[in-house]
Order: sequence, then C-alpha cells, then structure tokens
Amino acid sequence: MPGHRVAACDLAAIDQAHFCRSCGLVLRDAVQLPCGAHYCETCLLNMQRHDNPACFRCGQSLANIESFPDQFMRREILSFNVTCLNIGDGSCDWHGELRLADAHRNTCQFRPLPCGNNGCTSMIPACRLIDHETLECAHHPVMCEHCNAPETLGSLQNHLTTCPNVLAECTTCGIDIPRNQLKCHTDPLNGNCPRKPCPFRGYGCVHPELMNQEGLNVHLLEKLKEHLLLLKHLVEANRHQNGEEPHPQVGGIGQALHGAETKLEDHKWALTTHYHRLATLGDDVKRLFDVLVAVGDRVEVVYGMVAELRQENRELRTCLAALERRADSRDDHDNRMNGQFEMARTLQASLRPNFRNYPVRMKSNTRSWFGKLLMCSTNVQRLETIPNTAS
Ligand SMILES: [Zn+2]
Ligand SMILES: [Zn+2]
Ligand SMILES: [Zn+2]
Ligand SMILES: [Zn+2]
Ligand SMILES: [Zn+2]
Ligand SMILES: [Zn+2]
Ligand SMILES: [Zn+2]
Repeated sequence: MPGHRVAACDLAAIDQAHFCRSCGLVLRDAVQLPCGAHYCETCLLNMQRHDNPACFRCGQSLANIESFPDQFMRREILSFNVTCLNIGDGSCDWHGELRLADAHRNTCQFRPLPCGNNGCTSMIPACRLIDHETLECAHHPVMCEHCNAPETLGSLQNHLTTCPNVLAECTTCGIDIPRNQLKCHTDPLNGNCPRKPCPFRGYGCVHPELMNQEGLNVHLLEKLKEHLLLLKHLVEANRHQNGEEPHPQVGGIGQALHGAETKLEDHKWALTTHYHRLATLGDDVKRLFDVLVAVGDRVEVVYGMVAELRQENRELRTCLAALERRADSRDDHDNRMNGQFEMARTLQASLRPNFRNYPVRMKSNTRSWFGKLLMCSTNVQRLETIPNTAS
C-alpha cells in the first residue's frame, strides 16, 4: 500500500522529509536508504521490481541496495494529528492521530462509495447513498405508471412526452384521451370525436364548421364532387410542377372516376330515400309512443276505480255480516217464542180437564171462561200437584 493520504489543510504542518519520494504521499512504514532517502516499504519493493531501478534522490541503483526501517520516523508520522479526508461543508469533522485515520476512514459515514445503479459513475457519501440511488440518481430504474415500460428517473420525463397511454388533449374537441387512441378518435370515417374538421380542408375545402360523425358523413356525401375536383387540381398542379406529361392511363382513370361519380350519385339518391323513410318511421314510432302513454294514463284511472270498488266491497261484506248476526238472533227469538207457544198450548191442554173438576163455588166467583183460564194459569204449579180425577 502506498503512503498515507492526508487532507490539504494538514499538508502545511508536515515536513518535506516525511513524504515518500516515489508516491508523493506521507510515508507509510518508512524505510531509509544509505543515501538518506526515505521511501514507503511497498513503494521501494515496487521500484525494485522494475528494470534498472534507481533512487529518486541520488540516482544510485536500487537493485541490491540495503534498506532499513526507520522506526523513529514511523512512530513520529503515526502520531501526526490529522483531519478526516472527507472534510467539507456538512461533512465529517473527525480529528485524530494518523494511526487511527485508516480505521476511521473504513467506517466514516461520509466515505465516498460508488452508486450501485447501472451506468452511474458517481461516488456518493455513504450516508446519502440510498437516497441517491433511489430518489436522485438519473440511472435509478423506474416503471412508467401508464404503460409499465422500463425507464430510469432520467429518461422518464422524456418518455412521458411520447408514452402511448398518457392522456393527450384532442385539439378540436378538447377531450383528454390516451395518446395512442388519438388517431382513431379523430379518424374522419370511424373516429368518435364530436368536432371533426372536413378532411379535405388541407386540400382547399372551405367548409368552416367542426362536425360530429353524422354531420361529416352528410358533408362528405354532399360535397363529393367538390372534394374530388380539389384532389384533381392538386394532382394536376403537382404534375405541372414536375413537368410530367399526362399519363396515357389518365383518360381511363378519368372515365372510371366519372363512372364512380355516377354510381355515387345513385347511392346518394338511395341514401336520401332511406333517410326519408327513416324519418317517417320515426314519426310513426313517436305517434305509437303517444298512444301508449295515453293507454297508460287510462290504466291508471281503472286501477283507481278497482281500488274504490274493493273498498266498497269490503264495507258491504261488513254490513252483510252484521245483518246475518241480527238474523241469527231473530231466529233464536222465534224459537223461544215457539217454545213458549208450545208450552202455553200444553198448559192450556192440561188446564182444560182441571178446570172441569174445579169446585162449583169457585166457578160462581168467575165471570167468564177466559177469566177462569187466566186465574188457573197463574196457579199452574199448584194445579199440577192436584190429582187428575178426570183421567
Ligand atoms: Zn511511497
Ligand atoms: Zn539515494
Ligand atoms: Zn470521516
Ligand atoms: Zn447514481
Ligand atoms: Zn409509458
Ligand atoms: Zn376530439
Ligand atoms: Zn369538405
């Protein structure tokens, strides 16, 4: 190991004689040569491994030279008071003898360590290494939260400007949609952007409005000829610019175009007819819907009437039950009356023979049959105890 490294602030206090003439650092395990020059022990061995080694002080060959350890100087050097090499703003404030400096340096929390991220060459103080590796280092691996693409902290911002899943604003309708769907969204034939310009605007169509799909379809149908003519002018202008002669096939293409236009006119007529029929169907559906609503209202009224009738029915049932109860009680009354009539008849039948046997003096006291009968009936209990002599 070469000599001791010391902080710049400590250099001034160290005598020149204490520096190794080979490595330029403070002598480590100092050895002295006969010429008086001092070297680190390992530095001298390293020098002697080369061809024709010579002393830096006197130029003498070191090939078979005798050297001896300078114990006094070694002790002197190890007792130098030095500061930690990792000195600086907010860094280590360790001070101590040089003999302890190596041990401290191995555990110093400000010792510089290489960043572990792939591609980073920074040396970071040990106490800040984790923060650097995970929060600050441009080479720290991260994943795009929108598309899971592997990126680094340094490349992520750039990636987000092109990431296919990041929301981007449609320039015509202002809606935010994933960037990779923007092209489909604004597609003139199938896109669902509600504010699309005519795709022939760039070729000279002056239609100023932004349209939804239905409006654009109508515009494309209505302005088919105009759009084709715009393209035709463009092609001709291009050809003129390039000095090209009209191609022999152009006539054929023109005819084909004309045929296509005629066919398209037919389609347009058919489409218009269908639109009209659709509109008529729409009216029919609307009328039927109105009828349905009216029927619904009437059903509501009928429901109300049914509910009222149910209530009435319940009340009538209650009345009927009361009447039945009264009828039952009248039957009981009739039965009781019949029983009493029966009893009266039986009584009368039993009284008649008794009356015939009644004493004559008592008969004279009565004025009529009816009176006698009444008198007897009040004494039914007594008469029944009299022996029946008539029988
Ligand atoms: Zn040295
Ligand atoms: Zn020498
Ligand atoms: Zn330190
Ligand atoms: Zn790093
Ligand atoms: Zn992404
Ligand atoms: Zn849009
Ligand atoms: Zn247009």
